[in-house]
Amino acid sequence: MENKKGLMLVISGPAGSGKGTVNNHLLETGDFVYSVSATTRPPRPGEINGKNYHFITREEFEKRIKSGDMLEYTEYCTNLYGTPKKEAEEVLASGKNLILEIEVEGAANVKAKYPDAVLILLLPPSFEIQEQRLRNRGTETEEKILLRLARTKEELKSSDIYDYVVYNHDGRDTEAAEQIMSIVNSERCALKRNPNVAKLYFSKNK
Ligand code: 5GP
Repeated sequence: MENKKGLMLVISGPAGSGKGTVNNHLLETGDFVYSVSATTRPPRPGEINGKNYHFITREEFEKRIKSGDMLEYTEYCTNLYGTPKKEAEEVLASGKNLILEIEVEGAANVKAKYPDAVLILLLPPSFEIQEQRLRNRGTETEEKILLRLARTKEELKSSDIYDYVVYNHDGRDTEAAEQIMSIVNSERCALKRNPNVAKLYFSKNK
């Protein structure tokens, strides 16, 4: 019998990589659940509390770290971001694939705690296109844009920790999502996730 366990999927991508759009395609399939992070960053226009993030104060965030509520957390461009542990564990127990949309430091922490997690790096086709996308988005000040571009350079130094890289070309986000689905399907068939194949195959209680 097939292993029905869901995957812990880390998807990291620099600002402008199109993570949100690609993740929405994955969520539409019904096989994935998005881990809603907590953050001290103020909401961007259109962002909904409890859907995109749990927007909380730094004080509340620090309280939650102390009480062990965060599976991982990091400080990114002056704000705190973290994955609520209880929600993540509930999804994994239900058998759905869990998407953690987190940056590289968080990804490394997840890999250390959950070696079975699959780490995917989503990238724009080039650094120049990333910069263009950030400016076209117009949601951040020039200072924030430069900070995020500098952070990208820093983050890509640790790109070795990822298992896969997927490029999100302009207007081809469906293709990027399909590539991620292929990765997930292959990983779920991996023998290391399906132990005792022969025993299960011949068992009467399949
Ligand atoms: P943004 O402010 O653009 O929404 O997110 C900034 C960065 O923080 C992105 O790289 C995003 O993936 C990352 N991020 C969002 N939530 C979390 C989290 O819970 N943990 C970590 N480590 N990074 C996160």
